[in-house]
Amino acid sequence: MRIPIRDTSKEDSYCVTADLLIPGRGEPFKNGCIIVSGTKITHVGAVSEVLKYARLAALPKTHVEVLMPGMWDCHVHLMGIHKVSSAAIVASASQQALAGARSARDVMLLLDAGFTSVREMAGYGIQLDQAISEGSLVGPKIYSSNCIISPTGGHADAHDMLADWFHDAVAHGLPCYTADGVAECLKAVRTQLRAGASVIKICGSGGVGSERDDPIDQQFSDEEIAAMVAEAARARRVVGAHCHGKPGIMASLKAGVRTIEHGSYIDDEAADLMLEKDAVLVATRLIVEDGLKLGEGMFTPIGYQKLLVTAKAQWKAYQLAIKRGVKIAIGTDTGVSIPGGISQGRNGLELGYAVKAGMTPLKAIESCCANGPLTLGPMAPLSGQLKEGYDADFIALSKSPLDDIDVLAHAQNVTHVWRAGKCYKSPGHPVSCI
Ligand SMILES: [Zn+2]
Repeated sequence: MRIPIRDTSKEDSYCVTADLLIPGRGEPFKNGCIIVSGTKITHVGAVSEVLKYARLAALPKTHVEVLMPGMWDCHVHLMGIHKVSSAAIVASASQQALAGARSARDVMLLLDAGFTSVREMAGYGIQLDQAISEGSLVGPKIYSSNCIISPTGGHADAHDMLADWFHDAVAHGLPCYTADGVAECLKAVRTQLRAGASVIKICGSGGVGSERDDPIDQQFSDEEIAAMVAEAARARRVVGAHCHGKPGIMASLKAGVRTIEHGSYIDDEAADLMLEKDAVLVATRLIVEDGLKLGEGMFTPIGYQKLLVTAKAQWKAYQLAIKRGVKIAIGTDTGVSIPGGISQGRNGLELGYAVKAGMTPLKAIESCCANGPLTLGPMAPLSGQLKEGYDADFIALSKSPLDDIDVLAHAQNVTHVWRAGKCYKSPGHPVSCI
């Protein structure tokens, strides 16, 4: 295994030229190049323009076929579990070294697949991000919510478990948090900020993988949601709400929630409100398709029954949201670590579903690159675009995804990966040997 240790003492500059440059937002162009200095992009343009300056033309060069920004998966979980069940999730808190070891592989697979940033909507991402920043692990930048905040009996409470056991696991680091009433909701948000959360994740509706709630029902009350949004905003964080049913979607949007996760029952009225509020949909189709294929191998029997109903509604809602011009960021909800199965590394499949649901390949790429930072509000880094001053996170491909979006679904088509200016993957030098 090759683990590059980042050396920030040298501000190396270099040039990457490409047959085709896809900027992430705006029109792709042929014979483009970027100049990188340290961790930032300093120039983007046509080779004939940028390299007419002798100083830039003299820089070390790499040539690639297709160059585009590193991708963002705006909804993942890094918990090192092998099944979507409350028992597996709760067990991860008592086996955090095991969860971390499995996640070490997951973060490598994400980078190998061209994902240079992920937004983790509950999991152990804050600790993993620290390990990546220190150079102990190779992986994407992780923006984590730490816990998912749920009301008692809500989507992220473990209904089939003694409440005391669940709360004990929470006290020992399980990334779930239950809160009831405005005061506890404020404390819940502040607890995530204390842990280093970049975004706040709440349950706006019931869930599919949970046992005794209904995905249609709203969970937190209007007052509780508004209190959490205001508290997060004081610390310049936005709230992302897990929402299937329409009541939770509408209540979350009215309270100022920035992103609707899943959005399974968005209709015209909900789409109108999303447009009015400039909210972002993170539609997560990959987990739905994986769940339909794997059935009870992935979900509990109750979860699978709920999935059958939600899957149909979600596909209709996704198509409608695209047609109505709702802002969309790509997210998969991938969170299971099974080697060779449904684990991280297949995240690019989500762009194929975006195209099937009505986006052009270029729009799907914009949703997976430029729109990623929009899900973090004021915490958004300058990332997701090949643009001057932006983070030097970019990837190269052997074929154009504009002709076939599924090029992005397979890590072998990703020939190079750079993150924060450093090259982690190039031909003959894989991200890892796993
Ligand atoms: Zn999720």
